Amino acid sequence: VDGIKKTFPIDSGLLSSKKSVKAVNHVSFEIKEGETFSLVGESGCGKSTTGRLVTRLLMPDEGKIWINGEEISKMKETKLREVRKQVQMVFQDPYASLNPRMKIRDVVAEPLLIHTKLSAQERDRIVAEMLEVVGLSSYHAEKFAHEFSGGQRQRIGIARALILKPKLIVADEPVSALDVSIQSQILNLLKDLQEEFHLTYLFISHDLSVVEHISDKIGVMYLGSLVESGPKETIFANPRHPYTKALLSSVPIPDPRAKRERIILQGDVPSPVNPPLGCLFHTRCPFAMDICKTTPPALREAADRDHFVACHL
Ligand code: SF4
Ligand code: MG
Repeated sequence: VDGIKKTFPIDSGLLSSKKSVKAVNHVSFEIKEGETFSLVGESGCGKSTTGRLVTRLLMPDEGKIWINGEEISKMKETKLREVRKQVQMVFQDPYASLNPRMKIRDVVAEPLLIHTKLSAQERDRIVAEMLEVVGLSSYHAEKFAHEFSGGQRQRIGIARALILKPKLIVADEPVSALDVSIQSQILNLLKDLQEEFHLTYLFISHDLSVVEHISDKIGVMYLGSLVESGPKETIFANPRHPYTKALLSSVPIPDPRAKRERIILQGDVPSPVNPPLGCLFHTRCPFAMDICKTTPPALREAADRDHFVACHL
């Protein structure tokens, strides 16, 4: 992903309004095959929009996206159909993303119906197999979505996403709607499936503790921009950006003797309609200097390998 931008117009009800939100502003990253790259940040930071751009549910205004060496940023719908087989999404709310009036068999088989010419029998066989793969049973195929618990529904959502044997899964807050006890089951399932099917993940979450176990690399977003990115170990052990440090300081540490100073950020995330000048984070940064109010810091490589930070410090 190279320098993608996406701006949405705002309908303020006034005809003369030309206001817009820079939802994603010059975001770049690379995910290697079989890796998990997690985008983390508060709601409204542009991580979901980035996910939708990568799956080309949205078209970027600027910048380029390649999947397997093929540029998809401006690809036409007819050609995109082929790409869509390889790129699937798992959504946050398994309740909302499953049609309650459809049998699970039909929910999971739908992508096969759209993208293949398999017979009904063959589809049923593949669905039964896939339900077993995600930890359900083939007899569940006859039931309806409302008959399942939240965790089971997310398993169904994952089965549907995997049915075409995709290469890349964009998972947008896949465990945020689930009880904490169920979250780890689904995260473990995603990790097992990654090994089994050699999947690549773009994982989106507002919660660093959720992505700790699953990520190879992490990107931290704030107001539409990447402010820090690097290998998971580096981000957790040696975060450089004050925003990343603040996010990390609220992640619980299992060892009760270990201490991490809690950084409480002042104020709210500024409106993306009127983002601050200079460093986007300066209105909340405990270390803000004069230059931060006027000059946006570029994303630059830090001392550690593959570690990028946008901060004047
Ligand atoms: Fe804080 Fe300045 Fe760094 Fe922005 S550039 S994060 S305001 S120190
Ligand atoms: Mg979102």
